[in-house]
Amino acid sequence: MSEIIKILNNKDYTIENVARLISENDSKLRNTLQTKSQKIIFEAGSNFHNSEKRIQISNYCSANCSFCESRIDNNKLNRFRLNREEIIEEAVTAYKSGYESILIHSGYDDFYNTDRIAYILYSIKKKTKLKITLSLGLRKKNEYKKWKIAGADAYFLTFVTKNIELYKLSNSLGTFEKRVEHINELKSIGYSVGTGSILGLQNETVNAIAEDIVFAKNIDANFIGFCKYNNNAVENILGDELANRSVEVAQIVIPKVNVGLYNF
Ligand code: SF4
Repeated sequence: MSEIIKILNNKDYTIENVARLISENDSKLRNTLQTKSQKIIFEAGSNFHNSEKRIQISNYCSANCSFCESRIDNNKLNRFRLNREEIIEEAVTAYKSGYESILIHSGYDDFYNTDRIAYILYSIKKKTKLKITLSLGLRKKNEYKKWKIAGADAYFLTFVTKNIELYKLSNSLGTFEKRVEHINELKSIGYSVGTGSILGLQNETVNAIAEDIVFAKNIDANFIGFCKYNNNAVENILGDELANRSVEVAQIVIPKVNVGLYNF
């Protein structure tokens, strides 16, 4: 019996074994992994946010994450920002087109203060039955509370990476520990919480991704999303291929919740 089949049969998902699953290049075994992942999705009866519309409300950002084109230092980017009415209109259009949920996403843009976001949430909820997920980064705890009251259902906050060195290189705001603290705070407020890591970090390794997957399994989130930012090759696996493999393996390791990919 191959080592891969043994790992799957025994559900022996150590970091080392998860890295082994991601790195496997034999086409038959890759096919086995893909089929197993799809079976889990099929049996759960839903796909990752398959009826979710993503609305990016701004690409202004005061942060400077090294992997992201919206970083403040990127002066080649054309910036945009939707106003309140435009966001509400986009949400209503999505609802009328059959979407069941939306993801409202932005970097750190001070224009969207607590009240502005609350107004948007309240207005969308008044006009639609959409489930609303927010992805607005690390915010103040009282903001999370106000937005929950105003109608937000879920919050997506990445932990970036479990690896401390990679976290430092990513130049992401806050610390890994602070992000975990906020994820737990969001849960305690009553949000459905999604988290995951960034794919495409400088110096990333398959082992680091495996560590993220094992960490994500234990954080008890309601959904897991990996964010893919570029097409770096990692240990000879190209960006798209690596992202697909990581999501497939993560879905096998974490069968209880939906695992998916956000492309940025
Ligand atoms: S990843 Fe988010 S917080 Fe970081 S620069 Fe990009 S938009 Fe800003």
